[in-house]
Amino acid sequence: MSEFLFEVRHLTKSYRDPGGSGRRPVLRGIHLALTPGMSLGVMGPSGSGKSTLARLLVGLERLDSGEILLHGRRIDPSRRSDRRRLRRAVQIVWQDPRLHLNPFLTVRQALAEALRVAGFREKGGVETLCDAVHLPRALLGRRPDRLSGGEAQRVVLARALAVDPEVLICDEALCGLDLPVQVHLIDLLRQLRRKRRMALLFISHDFLTLAALCEELVVLSGGLFVESGPPRRLGESPRHEVTRSLISPAVSTAFAVAEHRLPKA
Ligand code: ADP
Ligand code: MG
Repeated sequence: MSEFLFEVRHLTKSYRDPGGSGRRPVLRGIHLALTPGMSLGVMGPSGSGKSTLARLLVGLERLDSGEILLHGRRIDPSRRSDRRRLRRAVQIVWQDPRLHLNPFLTVRQALAEALRVAGFREKGGVETLCDAVHLPRALLGRRPDRLSGGEAQRVVLARALAVDPEVLICDEALCGLDLPVQVHLIDLLRQLRRKRRMALLFISHDFLTLAALCEELVVLSGGLFVESGPPRRLGESPRHEVTRSLISPAVSTAFAVAEHRLPKA
């Protein structure tokens, strides 16, 4: 029996090569393991396979090989009961929240629907979700076109929380939002993780966001994990070229200064 909450072993995925007759590998030999309350970051440049990984983890696409385990039990995506088990335990928030909200539903309707699907019917559930993501209740009557990007992302997050997930995956979920909104959402995600013992898998190309949210980072390049470590270690002394390219020299210096490791001028 595995001691992990959510685990991925030897995951591989390829797509048909549009130019040729073969298949092009997009993810190769990926391993991941999450324990309750843990925050793991996956950092990689555009095209490295991050969103493909996210889709595989929530069962939106089939793996070529490898396995996904929830509480040590293998998930078979061809089985309805397994897909349901996965959906109840693992939720995902994507970039561009407005693409993922029904434009015809008010916030109240969207959250009520999520609670109904999750099987929770108690009164006040919508308000509780709304409060959990610090969304003013005055917005409950609005449709997505009258929400800001940050508000819409909060609704998406609240909807994900409706099943009380054990794992939250975020794929570039703060990308494109104003900086103060990002800071607020980072704070919110930290609180949710602490209060609910929810594990967080945060996928991004942005080192600073990952460093603010995650205890441990893995670096994805060309579908392979090339390096891993705590954000501070990667920030101070990135070993792989791709890691270096994602961390600006200013940031590395800032980490070094914070640690008093720079020679005195
Ligand atoms: P990232 O999220 O890191 O930018 P993606 O997972 O979106 O990377 O894409 C990884 C690679 O897989 C890219 O080269 C992309 O073109 C390719 N890819 C992604 N989805 C598909 C698909 N459905 N069919 C074919 N190729 C795809
Ligand atoms: Mg992506």
